[in-house]
Amino acid sequence: MRLLLIEDNQRLADYLATALQNGGFAVDHVTTTADAEGAIATTHYDTLLLDLGLPDKDGLVWLGDQRRRQMTRPVLVLTARDSLEDLVAGLNQGADDYLRKPFELDELIARVRALLRRPGEALGVKLTTGNVSFDTSDREVTVDGVAVEFGRREMDGLELLMRRAGRVVPKSAIEDAIYSFGEDLASNAIEVLVHRIRRRLQDAGADMYIHTLRGVGYVLSDKAAGA
Ligand code: CA
Repeated sequence: MRLLLIEDNQRLADYLATALQNGGFAVDHVTTTADAEGAIATTHYDTLLLDLGLPDKDGLVWLGDQRRRQMTRPVLVLTARDSLEDLVAGLNQGADDYLRKPFELDELIARVRALLRRPGEALGVKLTTGNVSFDTSDREVTVDGVAVEFGRREMDGLELLMRRAGRVVPKSAIEDAIYSFGEDLASNAIEVLVHRIRRRLQDAGADMYIHTLRGVGYVLSDKAAGA
């Protein structure tokens, strides 16, 4: 597994690279987005680790550009910025996960491994998470093989959460995916929608749960996982 570390703090980068190498990863290190672009053009990386404060370009701006050019590799953002707005912006620009500096090395390695287990979005027609299955062409959801009724928008919301199972889905992403531009939305529309999906899953005996990250979004994961 090969990682690209994009981090301009040399000491931190050396420290992280060594730890990741000891964790069994091959690590290439660059300090600018320009060098990162050169690296991903010639080498296949399984995951990118991206610092946000970089000398030649803001990491989030760069990530947004890359996603628009169909760069699909998982990206773990390493950020010292801790405001909620930055976090949500990062997820909206296409980050798959984030770690706030300072973080524990064990945590970093665990997050990278988790990303590698879920490379990108699940693209298949049949999505399965725990005992929940979703046939996206027949628009049928089953829990333990038993069909469960969902409204159209509930189904769209569930599909989004299942395609990104285990990862944070920003509230705004659900809004964008389900409601058309300019549609008049009640301020709690997404909360209400997620609440209904959650209840239907629970009533059907699903072993997956939609966890709320207050002010950020939602994660579909194991009931016990917490978020
Ligand atoms: Ca930096």
